[in-house]
Amino acid sequence: MDVKSRIDILTEELNRHSRNYYENDAPEISDFEYDRMMAELIRLEEEMPLLRRPDSPTQKVGGAASRQFSPVQHKVPVISLDNSYDAEELRNFDQRTRKGLPESALVEYVLEPKIDGLSVVLRYERGVFVQGATRGDGIVGEDITENLKTIKSIPSEIAYTGELHVRGEVYISRKAFVELNHRQEIYGGQIFANPRNAAAGSLRQTDPNVTASRPLDIFVFNIQYASDAGTDQAPALKTHRETLEFLKEQGFHTAEYAFCPDIEAVMAQIPVWDEKRRTLDYEIDGLVIKVNDLRQREVLGLKAKSPRWAIAYKFKAEEQETRMKDIQVQVGRTGVITPRAVLEPVRVAGSVVSFATLHNEDFIKEKDLRIGDRVIVHKAGEVIPEIVRSIPEERTGEENVFRMPEFCPSCGTALVRLPGEAALRCPNHKACPAQNLRGLIHFVSRGAMDIEGLGEMMMEKLSEWGLVSEIPDIYRLTKEELEVLEGLGEKSADNLIKAIERSKKADLGRLLFGLGIPLIGSKAAKQLARHFGSMDALMDASREELLAMDEVGDKMADSILSWFASERNRETIRQLKEASLNMVSTERVSGENEKEAVAGKTFVLTGTLERYTRDEAQALIEQFGGRSSSSVSKKTDYVLAGRDAGSKLKKAEQLGVQVLTEAEFEEMIR
Ligand code: AMP
Ligand code: ZN
Repeated sequence: MDVKSRIDILTEELNRHSRNYYENDAPEISDFEYDRMMAELIRLEEEMPLLRRPDSPTQKVGGAASRQFSPVQHKVPVISLDNSYDAEELRNFDQRTRKGLPESALVEYVLEPKIDGLSVVLRYERGVFVQGATRGDGIVGEDITENLKTIKSIPSEIAYTGELHVRGEVYISRKAFVELNHRQEIYGGQIFANPRNAAAGSLRQTDPNVTASRPLDIFVFNIQYASDAGTDQAPALKTHRETLEFLKEQGFHTAEYAFCPDIEAVMAQIPVWDEKRRTLDYEIDGLVIKVNDLRQREVLGLKAKSPRWAIAYKFKAEEQETRMKDIQVQVGRTGVITPRAVLEPVRVAGSVVSFATLHNEDFIKEKDLRIGDRVIVHKAGEVIPEIVRSIPEERTGEENVFRMPEFCPSCGTALVRLPGEAALRCPNHKACPAQNLRGLIHFVSRGAMDIEGLGEMMMEKLSEWGLVSEIPDIYRLTKEELEVLEGLGEKSADNLIKAIERSKKADLGRLLFGLGIPLIGSKAAKQLARHFGSMDALMDASREELLAMDEVGDKMADSILSWFASERNRETIRQLKEASLNMVSTERVSGENEKEAVAGKTFVLTGTLERYTRDEAQALIEQFGGRSSSSVSKKTDYVLAGRDAGSKLKKAEQLGVQVLTEAEFEEMIR
């Protein structure tokens, strides 16, 4: 299928599912499946922006407003939030925020629980609640005023007499949810999967009497719009904290929040809330961190779908039970055969999971996982879905023991297991189509040559069409060839050629990583590039010369030597040279530049530096032969502490690790 038809199908399907979800409360596919289709569409549109349709779901915030309720045009768009999952991302958010503000600005934050409910906007005029709407697509929502009037915690009158639009989250408490389901069971009503579904279903009833019987509640967290027309008591609010206090005074329910004078205070709150959420009577799926100063918010402004002044923080992995429907195998770049579990979709720590890696055959045996088993799923490292264990007590006898295939599913070659390795491999490295394609995708990927517009899909197509079957082919592509391909217009073809051209200048480290030499990850590739300075020097390096590098051990040295010994690989390099790819390291640092004080030392950064961003400081440390790590331990040599340093500084002091000021650090590298 050509790319244009694929984009058409995805656009239409996604729009249909979005209507099912938002308008009919009747999703046909899992959130995961939806996200997967959306991700594919985003990727295709990025590759070929001209094919993006005006009705593309990537251009909207949520679902469209339903026809069942009358549309309400929001006075101020009801936008979404960016997500973060760890401390690093929160610090990056803080850094971005500071960068967006004048240098001297202090940034305070307010931290609120992220209520897992439904966003609504309430409008008051002359102190009276006149209209309430769902979020809809963020621009137009649905009028659910009558239903909202049945919620006791929404005041029908407030003291403030200007026009006031507030945003809040409607939810059902845990306790009320259990009671509701119990009641539904007795009266034969619908049983809800979770409080959020129950709240959604209740809020969008066509009969407000039904809504009235449902235990809905609300937390209000923002003023969307306030006019002082006809009143002398316009809220002179300077901060978000004042906003929340003002809302409270007006009789709105607001959730408990924490004021944080800086990002370190935010960090300190996270474990506190992670603990606290278990005892809250409402479900939260994370926290929201917002810039406190309203003027700073204005300066920071908005992006297309989210504000620059706020970010959501999603909590760590939770465990969930589901069923493992099947086990599939995939062939990786180096021929490793990886089994993965196909799961009945289940929501784990904020997203729906349908697959989980099973690593290798031993993993499956050790855990005694059988196809059809009930299993416990969690997210390793907060992102990667993984099976914790099976629940043999729940077996029905229908379960099947899984056997790894004997032959490669891509090329049919008999699989082998190298001694001492858990993984099965397809040994046909030269001609296995799956491995070859994975290798090409790896070469153009972000971490390697970073060729924009050459995503996984595009690479698959080029290989299918027979235009690219090995790396140097990429540099032989012509605009004319690309242009005539279905769906790829002149402009996209032109952009692609330009991106390929640009990649020729990539640093040697990227090229080395992209070539996919076994055991050479991106870090090792970078270090090799820096150390040897050029492809030729590395190609000619002896075992001793390789081993002289701290980072290179026996196995790595063997792998490099045997890779360059292959005539086929040498030919690849020759052809890439011919295509004028850069073969030297522009980041080369000569021996005398490696500062003794820094070389080989481990640094941990904390707080905000005046002169460098975190990335810049890390790059400097690496440039001088040091390492940077994210947590303080006894192995840490130095903690480089900037302004507002927090827990890492304390830890350093406890462990007796030497603490450097920014000035001392500069002294070291000067
Ligand atoms: P998402 O649905 O992942 O885009 O997350 C953004 C949503 O979180 C918003 O649309 C709100 O409905 C919801 N939310 C819940 N609690 C808060 C809060 N305290 N501040 C802002 N948004 C919140
Ligand atoms: Zn194979």
